[in-house]
Amino acid sequence: MAADALVVLDHVDKWFGELHVLQDINLTVRRGEVVVVIGPSGSGKSTLCRAINRLETVDSGTITLDGQPLPQEGKALAELRSDVGMVFQSFNLFAHKTVLENVTLGPIKVRKTGRQDAEQRAMELLRRVGVDSQAGKYPAQLSGGQQQRVAIARALAMDPKVMLFDEPTSALDPEMIKEVLDVMVDLAQRGMTMIVVTHEMGFARTAADRVLFMSDGVVVEENTPDEFFSNPRTDRARDFLGKIL
Ligand code: ADP
Ligand code: MG
Repeated sequence: MAADALVVLDHVDKWFGELHVLQDINLTVRRGEVVVVIGPSGSGKSTLCRAINRLETVDSGTITLDGQPLPQEGKALAELRSDVGMVFQSFNLFAHKTVLENVTLGPIKVRKTGRQDAEQRAMELLRRVGVDSQAGKYPAQLSGGQQQRVAIARALAMDPKVMLFDEPTSALDPEMIKEVLDVMVDLAQRGMTMIVVTHEMGFARTAADRVLFMSDGVVVEENTPDEFFSNPRTDRARDFLGKIL
Protein backbone atom coordinates (compact mmCIF):
# COMPACT_ATOMS: atom_id res chain seq x y z
CA MET A 1 0.00 0.00 0.00
CA ALA A 2 1.33 3.45 -0.91
CA ALA A 3 2.62 5.36 2.11
CA ASP A 4 0.38 8.32 1.39
CA ALA A 5 -2.78 6.23 1.05
CA LEU A 6 -5.37 7.66 3.43
CA VAL A 7 -8.62 5.88 2.55
CA VAL A 8 -8.40 2.42 1.04
CA LEU A 9 -11.29 0.22 -0.05
CA ASP A 10 -10.21 -3.27 -0.96
CA HIS A 11 -12.70 -5.58 -2.71
CA VAL A 12 -15.68 -4.06 -0.91
CA ASP A 13 -19.11 -5.59 -1.47
CA LYS A 14 -22.41 -4.63 0.03
CA TRP A 15 -25.91 -5.99 -0.45
CA PHE A 16 -29.28 -4.60 0.53
CA GLY A 17 -31.24 -7.86 0.41
CA GLU A 18 -31.12 -8.90 -3.25
CA LEU A 19 -29.58 -5.64 -4.37
CA HIS A 20 -25.81 -5.74 -4.87
CA VAL A 21 -25.32 -2.08 -4.12
CA LEU A 22 -21.49 -2.00 -3.98
CA GLN A 23 -19.76 -4.47 -6.27
CA ASP A 24 -16.08 -5.19 -5.71
CA ILE A 25 -15.11 -1.58 -5.05
CA ASN A 26 -11.36 -0.92 -5.01
CA LEU A 27 -10.34 2.63 -4.29
CA THR A 28 -7.29 4.32 -2.84
CA VAL A 29 -7.54 7.98 -1.92
CA ARG A 30 -4.19 9.57 -1.21
CA ARG A 31 -3.56 12.30 1.33
CA GLY A 32 -4.51 15.66 -0.16
CA GLU A 33 -6.34 14.10 -3.08
CA VAL A 34 -9.79 15.26 -4.24
CA VAL A 35 -11.94 12.52 -5.74
CA VAL A 36 -15.28 13.36 -7.32
CA VAL A 37 -17.85 10.58 -7.57
CA ILE A 38 -20.60 10.94 -10.13
CA GLY A 39 -23.25 8.63 -11.50
CA PRO A 40 -26.98 8.15 -11.87
CA SER A 41 -29.34 8.13 -8.92
CA GLY A 42 -29.35 4.75 -7.19
CA SER A 43 -25.84 3.78 -8.30
CA GLY A 44 -24.50 3.46 -4.75
CA LYS A 45 -22.71 6.79 -4.26
CA SER A 46 -24.29 7.60 -0.90
CA THR A 47 -23.82 4.03 0.30
CA LEU A 48 -20.13 4.32 -0.58
CA CYS A 49 -19.81 7.49 1.53
CA ARG A 50 -21.79 5.99 4.38
CA ALA A 51 -19.60 2.89 4.36
CA ILE A 52 -16.46 5.02 4.69
CA ASN A 53 -17.63 6.57 7.94
CA ARG A 54 -19.21 3.32 9.07
CA LEU A 55 -22.82 4.53 8.94
CA GLU A 56 -23.24 1.33 6.91
CA THR A 57 -21.42 -1.95 7.40
CA VAL A 58 -20.09 -3.80 4.37
CA ASP A 59 -20.53 -7.53 3.68
CA SER A 60 -17.04 -8.30 2.47
CA GLY A 61 -13.74 -6.61 1.75
CA THR A 62 -11.99 -4.09 3.94
CA ILE A 63 -11.95 -0.34 4.40
CA THR A 64 -8.99 1.28 6.11
CA LEU A 65 -8.46 4.87 7.20
CA ASP A 66 -4.87 5.94 7.69
CA GLY A 67 -3.78 2.31 7.80
CA GLN A 68 -6.38 1.22 10.39
CA PRO A 69 -9.45 -0.90 9.67
CA LEU A 70 -12.68 0.90 10.54
CA PRO A 71 -13.63 0.22 14.15
CA GLN A 72 -16.87 -1.66 14.83
CA GLU A 73 -18.21 0.17 17.87
CA GLY A 74 -17.69 2.21 21.01
CA LYS A 75 -15.23 5.03 21.56
CA ALA A 76 -13.06 4.05 18.60
CA LEU A 77 -16.08 4.36 16.31
CA ALA A 78 -16.93 7.82 17.71
CA GLU A 79 -13.34 8.87 17.03
CA LEU A 80 -13.49 7.51 13.50
CA ARG A 81 -16.66 9.53 12.87
CA SER A 82 -14.83 12.68 13.91
CA ASP A 83 -11.83 11.83 11.70
CA VAL A 84 -14.19 11.52 8.73
CA GLY A 85 -16.09 14.79 8.30
CA MET A 86 -19.39 14.38 6.51
CA VAL A 87 -21.54 16.97 4.79
CA PHE A 88 -24.92 15.83 3.52
CA GLN A 89 -27.40 17.19 1.04
CA SER A 90 -29.73 18.19 3.88
CA PHE A 91 -27.74 20.35 6.22
CA ASN A 92 -28.36 18.30 9.38
CA LEU A 93 -27.58 21.08 11.83
CA PHE A 94 -28.92 20.87 15.38
CA ALA A 95 -32.02 23.06 15.13
CA HIS A 96 -32.13 24.03 18.80
CA LYS A 97 -28.50 25.07 19.03
CA THR A 98 -26.96 28.28 17.78
CA VAL A 99 -24.53 28.30 14.89
CA LEU A 100 -21.63 28.66 17.33
CA GLU A 101 -22.92 25.80 19.51
CA ASN A 102 -23.31 23.59 16.44
CA VAL A 103 -19.62 24.06 15.69
CA THR A 104 -18.28 23.75 19.26
CA LEU A 105 -20.36 20.76 20.37
CA GLY A 106 -18.20 18.02 18.80
CA PRO A 107 -14.83 19.44 19.87
CA ILE A 108 -16.08 19.89 23.46
CA LYS A 109 -17.86 16.51 23.77
CA VAL A 110 -15.66 14.23 21.65
CA ARG A 111 -12.27 15.93 21.49
CA LYS A 112 -12.51 17.26 25.08
CA THR A 113 -11.42 20.72 23.95
CA GLY A 114 -11.97 23.51 26.50
CA ARG A 115 -14.95 25.76 25.75
CA GLN A 116 -12.88 28.90 25.24
CA ASP A 117 -10.50 27.21 22.79
CA ALA A 118 -13.40 25.52 21.00
CA GLU A 119 -15.20 28.86 20.59
CA GLN A 120 -12.12 30.63 19.33
CA ARG A 121 -11.45 27.94 16.76
CA ALA A 122 -15.15 27.85 15.78
CA MET A 123 -15.15 31.59 15.14
CA GLU A 124 -12.04 31.23 12.96
CA LEU A 125 -13.74 28.53 10.91
CA LEU A 126 -17.01 30.46 10.66
CA ARG A 127 -15.01 33.45 9.42
CA ARG A 128 -13.27 31.24 6.87
CA VAL A 129 -16.60 30.07 5.44
CA GLY A 130 -18.04 33.61 5.67
CA VAL A 131 -20.76 33.18 8.30
CA ASP A 132 -19.09 34.48 11.47
CA SER A 133 -21.64 37.29 11.70
CA GLN A 134 -24.37 34.62 12.12
CA ALA A 135 -22.72 32.86 15.09
CA GLY A 136 -25.49 33.68 17.58
CA LYS A 137 -28.39 32.73 15.30
CA TYR A 138 -30.29 29.46 15.00
CA PRO A 139 -30.07 27.40 11.80
CA ALA A 140 -33.63 28.24 10.71
CA GLN A 141 -32.68 31.94 10.63
CA LEU A 142 -30.03 31.24 7.97
CA SER A 143 -30.29 30.67 4.23
CA GLY A 144 -29.61 27.17 2.88
CA GLY A 145 -26.21 28.24 1.59
CA GLN A 146 -25.29 29.68 4.97
CA GLN A 147 -26.47 26.53 6.75
CA GLN A 148 -24.39 24.34 4.48
CA ARG A 149 -21.32 26.49 5.14
CA VAL A 150 -21.94 26.11 8.89
CA ALA A 151 -22.16 22.34 8.35
CA ILE A 152 -18.75 22.45 6.65
CA ALA A 153 -17.30 24.51 9.52
CA ARG A 154 -18.78 22.06 12.01
CA ALA A 155 -17.09 19.11 10.30
CA LEU A 156 -13.78 21.00 10.05
CA ALA A 157 -13.85 21.83 13.76
CA MET A 158 -13.05 18.18 14.47
CA ASP A 159 -9.84 18.39 12.40
CA PRO A 160 -10.92 15.51 10.18
CA LYS A 161 -8.43 13.51 8.13
CA VAL A 162 -10.84 13.37 5.22
CA MET A 163 -14.04 15.18 4.27
CA LEU A 164 -16.93 13.42 2.55
CA PHE A 165 -19.50 15.52 0.72
CA ASP A 166 -22.68 13.82 -0.47
CA GLU A 167 -24.39 16.09 -3.00
CA PRO A 168 -23.77 19.15 -0.80
CA THR A 169 -25.39 21.62 -3.21
CA SER A 170 -28.33 19.57 -4.52
CA ALA A 171 -30.83 21.03 -2.08
CA LEU A 172 -29.73 24.64 -2.60
CA ASP A 173 -31.29 27.40 -4.65
CA PRO A 174 -29.10 28.11 -7.68
CA GLU A 175 -27.81 31.44 -6.37
CA MET A 176 -26.42 29.74 -3.26
CA ILE A 177 -24.58 26.92 -4.98
CA LYS A 178 -21.52 28.97 -5.81
CA GLU A 179 -20.92 30.21 -2.25
CA VAL A 180 -20.76 26.61 -1.04
CA LEU A 181 -18.62 25.40 -3.96
CA ASP A 182 -16.21 28.31 -3.37
CA VAL A 183 -15.70 27.12 0.21
CA MET A 184 -15.08 23.57 -1.06
CA VAL A 185 -12.57 24.74 -3.69
CA ASP A 186 -10.75 26.72 -1.00
CA LEU A 187 -10.64 23.60 1.19
CA ALA A 188 -9.25 21.55 -1.68
CA GLN A 189 -6.58 24.17 -2.33
CA ARG A 190 -5.57 24.01 1.32
CA GLY A 191 -4.77 20.34 0.82
CA MET A 192 -7.78 18.67 2.45
CA THR A 193 -8.40 15.10 1.36
CA MET A 194 -11.91 15.07 -0.07
CA ILE A 195 -14.39 12.60 -1.53
CA VAL A 196 -17.19 14.57 -3.18
CA VAL A 197 -20.37 13.20 -4.67
CA THR A 198 -21.56 15.95 -6.97
CA HIS A 199 -22.80 16.63 -10.45
CA GLU A 200 -21.24 20.10 -10.44
CA MET A 201 -18.89 19.72 -13.38
CA GLY A 202 -17.31 23.11 -12.75
CA PHE A 203 -16.22 21.95 -9.33
CA ALA A 204 -14.92 18.66 -10.71
CA ARG A 205 -12.90 20.40 -13.40
CA THR A 206 -11.47 23.00 -11.00
CA ALA A 207 -10.78 20.89 -7.95
CA ALA A 208 -10.80 17.16 -8.68
CA ASP A 209 -7.68 15.09 -9.19
CA ARG A 210 -9.81 12.16 -10.28
CA VAL A 211 -13.39 11.43 -11.26
CA LEU A 212 -15.04 8.09 -10.50
CA PHE A 213 -18.13 7.24 -12.50
CA MET A 214 -20.42 4.76 -10.73
CA SER A 215 -23.33 2.92 -12.22
CA ASP A 216 -25.37 0.11 -10.62
CA GLY A 217 -22.90 -0.44 -7.80
CA VAL A 218 -19.85 -0.62 -10.04
CA VAL A 219 -17.03 1.87 -10.59
CA VAL A 220 -17.28 1.93 -14.37
CA GLU A 221 -14.68 4.58 -15.15
CA GLU A 222 -11.94 6.37 -13.30
CA ASN A 223 -10.04 9.19 -14.94
CA THR A 224 -8.81 12.77 -14.71
CA PRO A 225 -11.68 15.27 -15.01
CA ASP A 226 -10.43 16.54 -18.39
CA GLU A 227 -10.22 13.04 -19.86
CA PHE A 228 -13.48 11.89 -18.32
CA PHE A 229 -15.58 14.83 -19.49
CA SER A 230 -14.07 15.20 -22.95
CA ASN A 231 -13.49 11.54 -23.67
CA PRO A 232 -15.71 9.15 -21.68
CA ARG A 233 -14.76 5.58 -22.53
CA THR A 234 -18.01 3.74 -21.91
CA ASP A 235 -21.52 4.07 -23.32
CA ARG A 236 -22.91 4.32 -19.81
CA ALA A 237 -20.73 7.35 -19.01
CA ARG A 238 -21.45 8.99 -22.39
CA ASP A 239 -25.15 8.44 -21.85
CA PHE A 240 -25.05 9.93 -18.38
CA LEU A 241 -22.99 12.95 -19.41
CA GLY A 242 -25.37 13.54 -22.29
CA LYS A 243 -28.20 13.89 -19.77
CA ILE A 244 -26.51 16.24 -17.33
CA LEU A 245 -24.32 18.50 -19.49
P1 ADP B 1 -27.06 7.05 -4.92
O1 ADP B 1 -26.52 7.84 -3.77
O2 ADP B 1 -26.05 6.81 -5.99
O3 ADP B 1 -28.32 7.64 -5.49
P2 ADP B 1 -27.64 5.06 -2.90
O4 ADP B 1 -26.33 4.61 -2.37
O5 ADP B 1 -28.42 6.00 -2.07
O6 ADP B 1 -27.44 5.59 -4.39
O7 ADP B 1 -28.56 3.79 -3.16
C1 ADP B 1 -28.17 2.72 -3.97
C2 ADP B 1 -29.28 1.71 -4.01
O8 ADP B 1 -29.45 1.13 -2.74
C3 ADP B 1 -30.64 2.31 -4.41
O9 ADP B 1 -31.31 1.37 -5.22
C4 ADP B 1 -31.34 2.46 -3.06
O10 ADP B 1 -32.73 2.38 -3.22
C5 ADP B 1 -30.80 1.30 -2.28
N1 ADP B 1 -30.71 1.56 -0.84
C6 ADP B 1 -30.06 2.59 -0.25
N2 ADP B 1 -30.14 2.52 1.09
C7 ADP B 1 -30.88 1.39 1.36
C8 ADP B 1 -31.32 0.76 2.56
N3 ADP B 1 -31.01 1.25 3.76
N4 ADP B 1 -32.05 -0.37 2.43
C9 ADP B 1 -32.35 -0.89 1.22
N5 ADP B 1 -31.97 -0.35 0.05
C10 ADP B 1 -31.23 0.79 0.11
MG1 MG C 1 -27.13 9.63 -2.96
